[in-house]
Amino acid sequence: MGSIPRRNARYHFDYGRQSRLAPQLGGSATCFGRSVEIAVIDFHTHSAASDGALSARDLLDRAAREGVRRMAITDHDTIAGYLSVCQSVPLGLELISGAELSCQWGRVGIHIVGLGFDPAAPAMTRHLEGLDKARRDRAEKIAHKLNRSGMPGALAGAMAVADGAQIGRPHFARWLVLAGHVESEEMAFKRFLGRGKPGDISLLWPALDDTVETITASGGLAVLAHPLEYKMTATRLRALTDAFRDAGGVALEVINGRPKPGDTDTLWRLVRERDLKVSVGSDFHRDSPYGAGLGVEVSTIPDGAGIWEQL
Ligand code: AMP
Ligand code: MN
Ligand code: MN
Ligand code: MN
Repeated sequence: MGSIPRRNARYHFDYGRQSRLAPQLGGSATCFGRSVEIAVIDFHTHSAASDGALSARDLLDRAAREGVRRMAITDHDTIAGYLSVCQSVPLGLELISGAELSCQWGRVGIHIVGLGFDPAAPAMTRHLEGLDKARRDRAEKIAHKLNRSGMPGALAGAMAVADGAQIGRPHFARWLVLAGHVESEEMAFKRFLGRGKPGDISLLWPALDDTVETITASGGLAVLAHPLEYKMTATRLRALTDAFRDAGGVALEVINGRPKPGDTDTLWRLVRERDLKVSVGSDFHRDSPYGAGLGVEVSTIPDGAGIWEQL
């Protein structure tokens, strides 16, 4: 493989602009002095079917407008957003099936992005039904904990915020703000919902192996989402990566949102060391000064490295 691509949001925004010229340029442009095919991919996005702000329709339309060529809607533990739009995808955009599945490895919560699976595969529909139930049970537990801390009404409140979406901690965070218990969602996580806080319910999700195997059995490919988010030592992260690969996992998400300097290099090293593929995604939830916009430009990722070549 060639040199290690270094990219971050700045690159991304430049290319985002360039990619909108793609039709006039006949689908190619000059990139780092080379003539390359424009390729803007986003394999990690959220719609209002989970904790994103945009409906799946608006998300798709926005992605098409902004020059994304291939994408997946990877809502937390649901494909309802994907199913609502998969029959009418804007011209020039290819939508593949996707979901960001919650699981656990030992006691640690891990996110696995599944891509390109058959949404009607029995293994997948069973798995998603289990996750629906796990999320409802967890919501009750979170509400119970909040009630015991003097904040009654959280379940009804968070469900109203979710408005039919797959319920998650962000809906509780929003309710905590609306009910006046905290000033911001960030603070809601810090005080009540984040790691080690009352609303952080552990030992709840299916095992990592089962999750990866479900994706594979459904004809899809499994990606280990944002591997550096789990705040593991290098040794633990290698062990996680090995467990993921042994279960049939295919790629690490080397670019998630706006990587910090050095993160991408760290993940590229792990990809090469363990002979895995690369996936990329904005993890877009909403417009925000901190998050990335839709689309990741992938022209400089070496041939053969991207998971998109297998989808
Ligand atoms: P859940 O899957 O229900 O456990 O919720 C996790 C989601 O909450 C993540 O995917 C993020 O979108 C969001 N989240 C996690 N931590 C924070 C935080 N500190 N502030 C705001 N949102 C967060
Ligand atoms: Mn989320
Ligand atoms: Mn995640
Ligand atoms: Mn995500």
